[in-house]
Amino acid sequence: LEPKEEFSHKTLAMDVMRPRRSDPPLSVITQDGMSVEEVESLIADTSYSGFPVVVSHESQRLVGFVLRRDLIISIENARQRQEGVVSTSPIFFTEYTPPQPPNSPPPLKLRGILDLSPFTVTDHTAMDIVVDIFRKLGLRQCLVTHNGRLLGIITKKDILKHMAQIANRDPDSILFN
Ligand code: ADP
Repeated sequence: LEPKEEFSHKTLAMDVMRPRRSDPPLSVITQDGMSVEEVESLIADTSYSGFPVVVSHESQRLVGFVLRRDLIISIENARQRQEGVVSTSPIFFTEYTPPQPPNSPPPLKLRGILDLSPFTVTDHTAMDIVVDIFRKLGLRQCLVTHNGRLLGIITKKDILKHMAQIANRDPDSILFN
């Protein structure tokens, strides 16, 4: 992101975040209750660089963010090395794993690959502030919440695309020096 490009104050995080109203919902992983095969299909069916991890679909409360490549590596490793890990093994991102019923497949504990403090802004945050944070912290993505509920995600590319669109539509709203 070029430091000299400035955003118009009018643009808010909600205007840039995905999903758009017409898009499929955000792809999230729940902190418990998903199996190895469910997470594997999520990885196979999408190409996102990462997934927010939430307490539950109902609460949409954010627990952290997990990178796609870390998920792939961890599941592959567990399937190869960890005794008994199969498609139906449950995946836990929680601190503690509840005792599993006897003869059930062993759980896969993945809290270690979770970023527990992903950068988050509210949907009403002005985009010039978001851009400033991206630059200063060197972010790749940022999550968007409203009243503690996860709403969406903004990637660096989303910002660049949005800047290009505004520049086309209304060249005065961005100052290119
Ligand atoms: P990039 O924006 O660099 O291509 P991604 O491949 O992660 O990065 O994201 C592609 C698009 O999908 C972006 O518009 C982004 O906002 C959106 N996106 C990223 N992660 C998710 C997700 N877990 N669920 C839904 N949309 C996502």
